[in-house]
Amino acid sequence: MADNDDLKALIRTIPDFPKPGIQFRDITTLLLDAHGFAQTITRMAATTLGPIDLIAGIEARGFLFAAALARPLNAGVLLIRKDGKLPGATIAEDYALEYGIDRIAMHADALTPGKRVLLVDDLIATGGTARAALRLLRKAGAVVEQAQFLVDLPDLGGADALRSDGITVDSLIAYP
Ligand code: IMP
Repeated sequence: MADNDDLKALIRTIPDFPKPGIQFRDITTLLLDAHGFAQTITRMAATTLGPIDLIAGIEARGFLFAAALARPLNAGVLLIRKDGKLPGATIAEDYALEYGIDRIAMHADALTPGKRVLLVDDLIATGGTARAALRLLRKAGAVVEQAQFLVDLPDLGGADALRSDGITVDSLIAYP
């Protein structure tokens, strides 16, 4: 983990966003840094359990990491979006928010059963989003062995919850 302190230095913390008391980890500053972003992708690719067929990226920042990782891993990109944004027939999965529920979706024909899929997002907090994405991928018949994140907030327990769903979870940076 200490090896990635150079990348951590490129992430800034915005207090009280999107609401009071939240320390928002803003990775847009890392994206602005050509070397930092390239190193992020290199290091994520180095910890991938391969081979994989598809990288599933979660809207919206997850798309950036999924697309960049797809090149060195020679994989396609599968978009997991907020419900209502994809044009074709979709399958969807609900997940709980602090207040209310949200729903993510993917194209029903995005994969054939047995495809090996790597799940990717910028950050895991409570794990609600990533766990719903995993349920969705499994519903479609995907074989998901691993999820990768740039940032983990371990105190919120999301990575451990995702591990309890039976996959390997890796991140480059943690904020205790
Ligand atoms: P979770 O569902 O609670 O694990 O929240 C993870 C989702 O919310 C991811 O899609 C993140 O992009 C987003 N998110 C939550 N907290 C932060 C943050 O501090 N910085 C950037 N994204 C965040």
